[in-house]
Amino acid sequence: MESDVRRAHLGVRKLLRACLVGVPLLTGCTQPPESCPGTTPIGLDRMAAITTDHDLPFRFPLDASRLDDGTYHAWFGERSEPGEDRRYHAAEDFSRPAGTPVYATADGEVSYSGRAGGYGWLVIVDHPQFNLYSLYGHLSPSRWSRDVGPVSKGSLLGYLGDPWENGGSRERPLDPHLHFGLRAGQRADYPKRGEWRWMAGWIRLCPQDLGWLQPSRVITAGAVPDEGYSAPDPGFLVRWGLEVLITLVYSAAGTGLLVIALRRKKRVFLLLPGILIILAGTVLLASEMLRTPALLVVGGTLLAIGACRLVAPSAQPEGPPPGGTQAAV
Ligand SMILES: [Zn+2]
Repeated sequence: MESDVRRAHLGVRKLLRACLVGVPLLTGCTQPPESCPGTTPIGLDRMAAITTDHDLPFRFPLDASRLDDGTYHAWFGERSEPGEDRRYHAAEDFSRPAGTPVYATADGEVSYSGRAGGYGWLVIVDHPQFNLYSLYGHLSPSRWSRDVGPVSKGSLLGYLGDPWENGGSRERPLDPHLHFGLRAGQRADYPKRGEWRWMAGWIRLCPQDLGWLQPSRVITAGAVPDEGYSAPDPGFLVRWGLEVLITLVYSAAGTGLLVIALRRKKRVFLLLPGILIILAGTVLLASEMLRTPALLVVGGTLLAIGACRLVAPSAQPEGPPPGGTQAAV
């Protein structure tokens, strides 16, 4: 019995070790390029006209401002400071005072509105009619926040955040600005982690290779390709690898626990693996680490097996086998 338990432990440990090797592969460990085309925004002098022309598919997400001539933070494809990890900007930054309203660049569906680390408050709008999504970072959660749901071109999405709430803090304030990104595909087409993550702002690979587009170029083009924007295919491993890995690890751990409980006849622990896996699946789904309920199905199955064994009459009565002790005597 002990050797079975030890084998189960070893199996789980081997799987965990394989995961530690596999995760970096799945989250993108490609060598970053030496250079990447950097661009400055175009058409800012026409921002007012583009914003008010309702025949155009897109508008700038901000109202025109005399500040448009200023440079700030980083433009599309711009490289980070020398000495930092090699990263490229996947969006355009527009400097404006805190409290400046931010608008949807086109009709669509808000698929995410919430806190997101260095973004402060982040809003993402899917535009399925163009096969595109737009990303608006550094908004103000203290002023007002948009719920998920449909929006029209020009709908208010939020306001730029103050330096201490826009991804910065009291200790390290961040100058108010809008981080505005456009990407081919829909948010759900991309994973939550790694270079291809849907909320990426700075990445190690060239943004355009991952489907990011130069926002001002898209807006000033005044038209959309007939078939919409074509998104690159991240591949199965990038898209689903982490999900499969997490599901396998939790499933193996839960199954191992159930096997141990069965072999040790710890009836009180028979329900524990299923409950733990269901809890883990619920938390991971809520945090969008997982996108499918596969782990809940595994947890439910383990729970059902544990419950069946719990209520089933014991096949073997505890104590010495028939004839065991008596025969020895
Ligand atoms: Zn930015």
